[in-house]
Amino acid sequence: MAKGAYISGKWTPGDGDWFEKTCPATGETSWEGQAASPSQVNDAVEAAQKAGKHWRHLPQNDRTKILEAYADAIGERADRIAEAISRDMGKALWESKGEAGAMRGKIAISIQAQIERAGGRHDDTAFGSAHLTHRAHGVMAVFGPFNFPGHLPNGHIVPALLAGNTVVFKPSELAPAVAEIMVECFEAAGLPPGVLNVVHGGRPTGAALLDADISGLLFTGSAGTGTAFHRHFAGRPEVILALEMGGNNPLIIWDPADIDAAADIAAQSAYLTTGQRCSCARRVFLPEGKFGDSVVEAIVERARGLKIGGWDEDDIFMGPLVSEQAAQAAVDFQTMLSKAGGKPLRRLKRLDRGGGFVSAGVIDVTDASNVPDEELFGPLIQVHRVKDFDTAIARANDSRFGLSGGLVSDDDALWLQAHNDLRAGILNRNRPTAGAAGNMPFGGPGLSGNFRPGAYYAADYCAWPQASQVSDKAVRMSAAGFPK
Ligand code: NAD
Repeated sequence: MAKGAYISGKWTPGDGDWFEKTCPATGETSWEGQAASPSQVNDAVEAAQKAGKHWRHLPQNDRTKILEAYADAIGERADRIAEAISRDMGKALWESKGEAGAMRGKIAISIQAQIERAGGRHDDTAFGSAHLTHRAHGVMAVFGPFNFPGHLPNGHIVPALLAGNTVVFKPSELAPAVAEIMVECFEAAGLPPGVLNVVHGGRPTGAALLDADISGLLFTGSAGTGTAFHRHFAGRPEVILALEMGGNNPLIIWDPADIDAAADIAAQSAYLTTGQRCSCARRVFLPEGKFGDSVVEAIVERARGLKIGGWDEDDIFMGPLVSEQAAQAAVDFQTMLSKAGGKPLRRLKRLDRGGGFVSAGVIDVTDASNVPDEELFGPLIQVHRVKDFDTAIARANDSRFGLSGGLVSDDDALWLQAHNDLRAGILNRNRPTAGAAGNMPFGGPGLSGNFRPGAYYAADYCAWPQASQVSDKAVRMSAAGFPK
C-alpha cells in the first residue's frame, strides 16, 4: 500500500510524484509510493501545530513515559527495522541491527540529556526566587540522510518530542521504509495523533516543508544541502537550525609499534558502511619512508581482503553503495583524482554483479595537484605521505570540514599535540574515526555543521531557556535618586 503522508495519526497515499527505491544489492523494489504534495505538507504542519497546544503542556514525566514505551516498541521490532534499512540502502544486516539497537538506546540517553541540559532550576533570592525552565520551539521539521535512515532522524525526533515540540519528518527518499515502522512504534507507545507526522518524498516535498510555517529545522545530510538550507533561512533568526553535515576526515598514522593494528584502524575508519558514514576517514597521512610504506601495503592488503556481498549474505563486511549512481560517482571521483596526479594503489571498481557494488580503493595523492576538499561518500582512501608530524597536522587541518579525525600512535606527546591542534569535533586515538559514543555530543566545526552538535547535546537545540525572577507580592521599588 502506498503510504505517502502520515498526518494526525492516519496514513494516506501521497498526491505528489510517484517514486520508488530499489535495493542496490538485489535490484528489487524496496519501497514505492507517491510523494506528499505541498498541500499535504502544509496539512502535516497544521496538524503538528494543533497537537502541540496539548503536547507541550503535558508534564515532562508524561512525555517521558510515552518515549520509554516507544523504546520498548522499537526493541520488539528491531529485526524488522534492520531488514527494512538493509533492503533500502544495502548495508550489511549486522550493521542495520546495530542501528536498530542505537535507536532504542538513544531514548534513555535523550531522557538523561533532557534532565541535565534542559531541566529546571530554582534559587531562593532576597525578593523571592529565581527560576529557570525550558520551552518548546513549536513544529520541528526533521530531514534524514539515507545512511542511517532510522537512527539519525530518531536522534532529532526523540529529543524534540521530549522537549514538547511536535514534528514533521521527511525521511530520505533513498531509504524511506523504516519511517513506517517508526510510526507503528509511536502508535504502540500511545503518542497522540498529530505529534509526529511524516511526509515522504524527494526535493519537492523537502522544499515545501522548508516553506511551511515551521519553528525549526533539524537536518542531517550533506554540506551542500545544509548550506542551501542555511541560505534559505537567512534573515530568519527566529527559526532554529540544527545542521549536521559531512566531513573530509583525516587520520594520521605515526610510528605505532603494531603496523597491522594501524592498518586495521585505517581500513575500518574508511570502509565501514562501504564508506557511507559521515565520520569515515577519507584522507590518511603517513610519514615518508619504510614505516609508511609498510602501513600502506597493509592497508591495500585489507582493501583486497574485505568480504563484499548482499546485505543478507553471511559474514560480509561491506554491502553495496546506496545506488548505481553512487557507485558510478565514486568511480568518477577516483578518475578525477588520477587525472590530478594521484596514483591508484588499489582501484575502487564497480563489481560485475552490478547494482551499487564497488570494491574498496586506495589512491596515493601525495603528488597530485588541486585535490578538491570534497567528501566522497564511498570506500576510497586518499594517502598523503608527509615529511614530519607538524606537516601531517597542518595538512589534516587544511579542510573546510571538521567532523572527525584520528591519530594512530603509541606516543603520548604526539597525542597531546594532535588533541590540541587537530580541528575535529570527534577526535579519536588508536580507534577508528567512525566510532562515536551516543552519550557524547556529535558534530564538528567548519562546513560540518552550524555548531549545534547532536546526540547528547540535541537537548540544547530542542528548547529555549526562560529565566524568571519571582516575587509573590508587588512591593515598592527603591534606588538611589529614585522618587520615594
Ligand atoms: P542529502 O543532503 O542529499 O539529503 C538529506 C535530506 O535532505 C534528504 O531527506 C533529502 O531528500 C533532502 N534534500 C536534499 N536536497 C534537497 C533540496 N534541494 N531540497 C529539499 N530537500 C532536499 O544527504 P544524503 O546523501 O542523504 O546523506 C549523506 C550525507 O549526510 C553525507 O554528506 C554525510 O556526511 C551526511 N551525514 C552527516 C551526519 C552527521 O551527523 N554530521 C550523519 C550522517 C550523514
